[in-house]
Amino acid sequence: MKTRKVSELKRKKPVKLTELTFQLIVESSPNAITLVNKEGKVEYINNQSEKLFGYSRSELIGYPVDKLIPQRFMKNHPGFIDMYFKTPSERAMGAGRELFAVRKDGTEFPIEIGLNPILTNQGSLVLASIIDISERKRAEEQFRLVVESAPNAMILVNQSGQIILVNNQTEKLFGYTRKELFEKKLELLIPERFRRHHPDLRMNFFQQPQTRPMGAGRDLFGLKKDGTEVQVEIGLNPIETQEGHMVLASVIDITERKVQERSIKKQVELEIKNVELEQFAYIASHDLQAPLRTVSNYIQVFEEDYHQVLDNTARNYLNRVGMAIERMSALIRALLDYSRLGRQVSVVYTDCKKLVMDVLADIDQTLNDSGATIEIGTMPIIYVYEVEMRQLFQNLISNAIKFRKKDMLLKIKIWAEQINNQWKFFVSDNGIGIEPIHFERIFYIFQRLNAEESYEGYGIGLANCKKIVELHKGEIGVESELGSGSTFYFTISNLSE
Ligand code: ADP
Repeated sequence: MKTRKVSELKRKKPVKLTELTFQLIVESSPNAITLVNKEGKVEYINNQSEKLFGYSRSELIGYPVDKLIPQRFMKNHPGFIDMYFKTPSERAMGAGRELFAVRKDGTEFPIEIGLNPILTNQGSLVLASIIDISERKRAEEQFRLVVESAPNAMILVNQSGQIILVNNQTEKLFGYTRKELFEKKLELLIPERFRRHHPDLRMNFFQQPQTRPMGAGRDLFGLKKDGTEVQVEIGLNPIETQEGHMVLASVIDITERKVQERSIKKQVELEIKNVELEQFAYIASHDLQAPLRTVSNYIQVFEEDYHQVLDNTARNYLNRVGMAIERMSALIRALLDYSRLGRQVSVVYTDCKKLVMDVLADIDQTLNDSGATIEIGTMPIIYVYEVEMRQLFQNLISNAIKFRKKDMLLKIKIWAEQINNQWKFFVSDNGIGIEPIHFERIFYIFQRLNAEESYEGYGIGLANCKKIVELHKGEIGVESELGSGSTFYFTISNLSE
C-alpha cells in the first residue's frame, strides 16, 4: 500500500501556486517551514521557523540553508540538495538517519523533515517541513532508561510479533545479545510446543489491549539460547508508540521459586507424614503396651501363685515369654523415640571434637572392656542440633564396638573433611564388615544383619542416624567389605548458613 502511494506521488507534477495562496498555507502551518532553492539558499521561512531556529527572516532569507545545519553534516548537504532537485518527490528526508538542526544560539536539536517539491515564479523550490522531535526523543530515552533499569527482563514487541527493544536483564535471562534479538520474532524465545498458538494469543491481546498477567492459570516457559527452558511469569502492558501499538512484556524467571515451592510442598508432606507416624507410634505404644502389660502381669501371677505347681520347664518357658515381652516393649519405645526425633531440636554452636570426647566418656566402661584404640582427627566447630549429633556419634561408635571382631584389637578412627559448604564426617572400624548388598537396607528401621543371639540390638540405631543426618540436610552411607571393617560417613550442613 505504502509503496504504491509513494510511486503515485512521484508521478505527480509539482503544484504551481500563487504567491498569496502559498503564503497563507505556509504561515498557517503549525510546523516550521523553510523553502530552499536549487543553490541551497533559503527563499522563505514561516513564523514557526523563526521561532524554532531563533533567526528573523532577514537573517536567513538569501543565505545558505547550511546556517541551520550542524557543521559535521554540512559537507554532504549540497550533494543531497542536487540529488533532490534531480528526482523531486514528496518524501521524508534522511530515511534511516538521525537528523539534527542548529539554532542561532548554536544549540542543536533532533528534527524530522518532510520534503515537497514546489514550482514558484522563482523556479523549482523544495519546501521543508521541520518538526522538533526533542520532546519525543527525550520521552523515548526516558522509556529506554526505565526499561533498562527494570529489575526484570523487559521485551517490547510490535503487532507482528517482532522484538523492538530488550533490556540487559533479557540478555542475561535468555543468553542472547540485544543485537541478536532485534527485529526477530518473539517465538525465538518460546519453546517449540507453545509457538503455534502464540500469534493468535498476541492478536487477541492487541484486540483488547490492557495491562494483565499472561497465561492466567497456565505454566509459562521461556527458551534460552542454549536450548534450556526457564519457567517464567509474564506481565503484559500495552504501549502506544510512534510506530503503532506495541506490548511491553515484563518477564520474571520463577524457576528457583518453583523449585522452592516444590521443596516446601515436599517438606509439608513430610511433616504431615511425620505427624501421622508420631500419632501412629503413640497409639501403637499405648495400645500395644497395654496388652503386653497384661501378659506380663499374668506371668508374674503365674510365677508367684503357681510357683509350687510349675516345674522347671514351665518356669523356663515363662521366663522366655517374659523376655520376649520385655524386648517387644523396648522395640515399641524405640519406635516412639524414632518418630519423635527432630520434633524439638535446637541449634547449638558445637565443638564436634569435644562432643565426640563426651560420647566416649559416657561409654567409658564399654570402651575399656572392648580394648579399643580411638583416633580422632580434624573436627569442625559448627552450628548443629547438638543433642541429636551426640546421639548420632553415640550410635556409630557403639556399633563399631558392638560389631568388632573377637580375635582382633579394635581400632576406631573418627575425622571430618570440609567439602564445599558441608562437612563430611567419617567413623571407621576394623570390625566384622558388611556385604555391599546390605549397604542401603541397614539404614531402615528394624533392619539387622546378625542374629540377636550374636549381637544384641533393635535395628533402630542407623535409622535414627539417617534421620538426624537428614535433619542437617545431609546424606549418610557406608563403605565396607565383609571381614575387613566398615567406614560410615555422613555430611552435615552448618545450620547457621
Ligand atoms: P542394631 O545395632 O541395633 O542392630 P543398627 O540400626 O544400628 O541396629 O544397625 C543395623 C545393622 O547394621 C546392624 O544390625 C548390623 O548388622 C549392621 N551394622 C551397623 N554398624 C555396623 C558396623 N560398624 N560393622 C558391621 N555391621 C554394622
